[in-house]
Amino acid sequence: MLNLETLISEADLQKRIKELGTEITKDYEGKEIVVLCVLKGGVMFMTDLAKHIGVPMKMEFMVVSSYGDEYRSSGVVKILKDLDEPIEGKHILIVEDIIDSGRTLQYLSNILSERKPASIKICTLLDKKEERVSDVEVSYIGFPIGNEFVIGYGLDYKQYYRNLPYIAVNKE
Ligand code: 5GP
Ligand code: MG
Ligand code: MG
Repeated sequence: MLNLETLISEADLQKRIKELGTEITKDYEGKEIVVLCVLKGGVMFMTDLAKHIGVPMKMEFMVVSSYGDEYRSSGVVKILKDLDEPIEGKHILIVEDIIDSGRTLQYLSNILSERKPASIKICTLLDKKEERVSDVEVSYIGFPIGNEFVIGYGLDYKQYYRNLPYIAVNKE
């Protein structure tokens, strides 16, 4: 078991997610979007964010596994579940839990670009900017955080703790 300390409270998460939803709604006014959740980590964030999106939207899910240990990705990404529909001509908003090196999202947006969507933007709840090695563009960021391993609200440690309604760090 981990010794948890709250980094971002449930109230702060929900407040910021509402703001992001409002911003997204403004930016996509008059358009329809496909909100693409990257499972499993993005699941909590995407469902809460979607409640605040006021333009017509579809939900899509992808499962990708990025090889690595339990703390970070290697950037070698495998698609375990692909989109259900073609995305040609559609506006895609990728929703992720966290961007660290940026390799996972770089890989994903490259693959999706080949399918000729009208646009692709990225929305991440958490951003570990210091760790970035890829120059992938991120349009919406919930919270910038430092280089520490976080869990909760979709983010796991050995597949546990995804159900926490807040973001926590391990204090040993
Ligand atoms: P990247 O490809 O940007 O380096 O890694 C992104 C992925 O690494 C995330 O989707 C997540 O699965 C994992 N990851 C990176 N940092 C953390 C962290 O602090 N906590 C958890 N639980 N996963 C992380
Ligand atoms: Mg993720
Ligand atoms: Mg993980």
